[in-house]
Amino acid sequence: MTKIYDLHCHSTASDGFLTPTQLIDRAVEKGVTDLALTDHDTVNGLTEAAEAARSTELSFIHGIEISTTWENKCFHIVGLNIDPTNDQLNNGIHDLQQLRLDRAKKIALKLEKRRIPNAYEAVVKAANGGMITRSHFAYFLLDNHYVKTPQEAFDKYLGKGKTAFVSTVWAELHDTVNWINQAGGVAVVAHPLRYKITTSWLKRFLTAFKTSGGSGIEVVTGRSNTEEIRRTMHFAENHQLAASVGSDFHTPENRWVELGRLAALPETAKPVWQLF
Ligand code: AMP
Ligand code: MN
Ligand code: MN
Ligand code: MN
Repeated sequence: MTKIYDLHCHSTASDGFLTPTQLIDRAVEKGVTDLALTDHDTVNGLTEAAEAARSTELSFIHGIEISTTWENKCFHIVGLNIDPTNDQLNNGIHDLQQLRLDRAKKIALKLEKRRIPNAYEAVVKAANGGMITRSHFAYFLLDNHYVKTPQEAFDKYLGKGKTAFVSTVWAELHDTVNWINQAGGVAVVAHPLRYKITTSWLKRFLTAFKTSGGSGIEVVTGRSNTEEIRRTMHFAENHQLAASVGSDFHTPENRWVELGRLAALPETAKPVWQLF
């Protein structure tokens, strides 16, 4: 049987639209054979997802996506095949969870100054105990007709340097990678071409990531084209990083991104799952 891997997606434990159970059901429906749930800075969806996967053929991998700051820039590091009960990991993400709450209050204050009230209460309600992300603010702005698309919410208010942007110092790169490694997992650079940085900064980052004990890089993501896969494959080779594949699926409403709908890894790639 051909394997279909998807090692990056989100549930209602952070900014995904589907509950962990709904996510597993959809993954099975889409033919995914190996799925990792990687919510932002939380492992809270993993128990439910693992339980839902038990009655299916799907092989479930415990994961996380950790917000990280390196040289004043934000990067996302995916941890795959982690032990979600590991103390170091849990202590580390506990601080990030507090940081997310504090940041949400600050974003809401900035919106209030732009005469957009009640955002904090709304996002707390929408997140329903899960991580509050800028996506929650984007949908709040959309639902209340301040913007016409989530993208416009980022362009006008939430994006870096925009009126409701709150600069945040997330976990240190070295710590992020350590927590993942301590938890028996494999650290992977998420969506390497989505950071708004020059190639030379990206290379410097990959060097620091590898030196910190990082192991992989997402070579194929939900929307990568052939040229992007080729470029990323070069980064993987030059920095001796294993190759991962992940859609970064958040919602069935985005018809451009689907669970398991991913291009094949180049033949020369060293698949990250060989490290599990
Ligand atoms: P946060 O980690 O709270 O800063 O939120 C980041 C999340 O917001 C990402 O994981 C995406 O789901 C979403 N996001 C970030 N930038 C954009 C954008 N330009 N358009 C739409 N969604 C975005
Ligand atoms: Mn997200
Ligand atoms: Mn991300
Ligand atoms: Mn993601």
